[in-house]
Amino acid sequence: MTSQPGRTDRVTDYTRRFAAFLDDEVAPLEADLAERDVGTPWNPRLDEAGRMHPAVWEARREVQRRSAAAGLYNPHVSVAVGGGGFSRAEMQHVEEFVYRHAGLGLGLAALAWTEGANPALEHCSDAARERWLAPLMAGEITAAFANTEISVGTDVLAMETRARRDGSDWILDGTKAWITNAHFADVVQVTAVTEPGAGTRSLSMFLVDASAPGFTRGRDIPTMLDDGLTGELHLDAVRVPAEHVVGEVGDGFGLAMAWINWRRLCRGGMCAGWGEWLLARALDRAQRRTSGGAPIAELQAVQHMLADMDADVYAARAASLLAQSELDALPGGAFGLPLHADAPRLTSLVKVINDEAFFRVADRAVQVHGGTGLRLGSPEEKLFRLARNLKIPAGTVEIQRNAIARGLIRRGTGR
Ligand SMILES: Cc1cc2nc3c(=O)[nH]c(=O)nc-3n(C[C@H](O)[C@H](O)[C@H](O)COP(=O)(O)OP(=O)(O)OC[C@H]3O[C@@H](n4cnc5c(N)ncnc54)[C@H](O)[C@@H]3O)c2cc1C
Repeated sequence: MTSQPGRTDRVTDYTRRFAAFLDDEVAPLEADLAERDVGTPWNPRLDEAGRMHPAVWEARREVQRRSAAAGLYNPHVSVAVGGGGFSRAEMQHVEEFVYRHAGLGLGLAALAWTEGANPALEHCSDAARERWLAPLMAGEITAAFANTEISVGTDVLAMETRARRDGSDWILDGTKAWITNAHFADVVQVTAVTEPGAGTRSLSMFLVDASAPGFTRGRDIPTMLDDGLTGELHLDAVRVPAEHVVGEVGDGFGLAMAWINWRRLCRGGMCAGWGEWLLARALDRAQRRTSGGAPIAELQAVQHMLADMDADVYAARAASLLAQSELDALPGGAFGLPLHADAPRLTSLVKVINDEAFFRVADRAVQVHGGTGLRLGSPEEKLFRLARNLKIPAGTVEIQRNAIARGLIRRGTGR
């Protein structure tokens, strides 16, 4: 196993400690939550406003705080700002382990997800680091990333949210939509136009205090994930101090891509972990469920579904590991600013391969379970919905193909 890229001693140490954390810290919190009529961590009840039940949210927050205290929350963040400094190949193993063993439980909150620290934030000022990044990494607060708008998703450079200077401050106006963690975030990474017409230099990223005057949380946007986490945000003349600009003015597009590319690459370990979990569950079901007096696992039709699941998980996992180790080897790595020209193709390969393979895996997992796989709230049903969702956020599968083709054409035939 040590011959696999990224399977280092510190990954082994991390996964050992994570397994113990699941048993010692998460299991009692999960048992406590199960006794209340609030749903489960990934199938939460929603409150009257359509938002994740506060008790489920608070349980996730408690896991985040404890995980941060245990040194498990930020392995992906650089050592320079207090994280674990793991490479992307190492993170593939970490994420695979976390998703395989936490399943759809509370333990998933123990590894920073979209509400946590991310590569774009490593470019923030010392003042912003102290004000926002340190508490974020300690699990004391949560963040959201606000790029998309009601009329603008894929076509990012057409966004309408504007930032104008007022002395050394900035004033932000606009509406963001489809934002994960819109309802709860303490700080929001907002991208806005600072120089209209300047192409990829037209945007900047701001850290916006969710309690600032003029900042309001809008309506919930219910999606097929049904987790009560997606919503709108309104900025009405919100004042942001200069030290809360991330990176330099004009870096917003590159920083937004750093965040988005991080989410794209996280598909590798997430789909491998959940894929292995679904495969293990399907195998178990096929060996216990009988038809004609024998386990359905003895039927070739079912065996082929299991084999196809295995093939998809294995191929996507292998591709993710290779692409991420190639990204690690590039000058600037996977998230450099400016990004290495070979990075977008490799990143998009990870996303499109995983999105599409995991959709087939989740579909077959439902099929092997028969009607049981369609039961509302079952892991198969939930992960099937989630798999369908994956092909759209963080850039659609079509956009990944655009990036792959651009990379191929740029590279030419000389290699
Ligand atoms: C559950 C969920 C959570 C999300 N969380 C966040 C978040 O936290 N922060 C955030 O900023 N955004 C978030 N989003 C928004 C998400 O990133 C966008 O939905 C996504 O980028 C697609 O944009 P769109 O929905 O506007 O689709 P559109 O851009 O309208 O695309 C529609 C179709 O046209 C195709 N298309 C469009 N342009 C092109 C092109 N140039 N070439 C080829 N095909 C094209 C697309 O591939 C797609 O098939 C979230 C969305 C969802 C559903």
